[in-house]
Amino acid sequence: MILNAFDLTGKVALVTGCNTGLGQAMALGLAEAGCDIIGVNRSAAPETQAQVTALGRRYCHVEADLINSANVPQVVEQAVAAFGRLDILVNNAGIIRRNDALNFSEQDWDDVMNINSKTVFFLSQAVARQFIRQGQGGKIINIASMLSYQGGIRVPSYTASKSAVMGLTRLMANEWAQHHINVNAIAPGYMATNNTEPLRNDESRSLEILGRIPAERWGTPEDMKGPVVFLASSAADYVNGYTIAVDGGWLAR
Ligand code: NAP
Repeated sequence: MILNAFDLTGKVALVTGCNTGLGQAMALGLAEAGCDIIGVNRSAAPETQAQVTALGRRYCHVEADLINSANVPQVVEQAVAAFGRLDILVNNAGIIRRNDALNFSEQDWDDVMNINSKTVFFLSQAVARQFIRQGQGGKIINIASMLSYQGGIRVPSYTASKSAVMGLTRLMANEWAQHHINVNAIAPGYMATNNTEPLRNDESRSLEILGRIPAERWGTPEDMKGPVVFLASSAADYVNGYTIAVDGGWLAR
């Protein structure tokens, strides 16, 4: 039956940046669908841990600063040591820095590119190697952005990094589909999290954004649950290299 294809019972999902926001909601959605969760965060994520274990699933905390891709090998080692295998990777952790392009600093360029693109690639590479060792394929879900499609304003490294995420999603899918690895991305629209707090606090910018969203509301972290479970499940086995917008219709406008 088709609904069984969405059942993730017994799968192990590694979710980066799951202490808050979209990452937390995706970790909980995956746990609701049956996954045990490896949460990779800069410090413990007790709220997420409590909610995952309340669902009867296991949670393992792996501590890492993902701004430095040199930390990637120990993340995968600890994850595999904890639960013995990996089935799903959600590359969610990400940052944004805002400044006029004319004044944008090299530090703000490097920091954003490192976590949003470089670590996404090297963590995907390390996890794909693990999937290949296990011999049963796997699912990688990257978090892109509206700025994978559009230019944006005052966020040059974010636009560059999220455009790279969409391209890398296609490249990794092309190379790893033969190993039954699916690499897709979700491009959230304007979602109410820490990431967009400055935008929502800026009254004119906030009204401007809201006025352009056909759904007439900001997205919520819960809006990510269905799409991430779908892409992590066998219901999406023939979906590969694609970026799904979860944007209340923003891109259709
Ligand atoms: P958020 O609430 O700011 O969450 C970002 C997550 O990334 C947090 O868990 C954060 O951990 C983690 N993180 C940041 N720097 C890290 C580092 N150096 N090492 C490890 N983890 C780090 O924002 P969000 O909106 O949920 O963002 C989640 C993802 O969605 C990001 O990739 C973002 O670009 C993307 N996105 C968001 C929107 C939106 O409208 N909100 C739209 C499009 C795309 P700490 O709490 O320790 O900082």
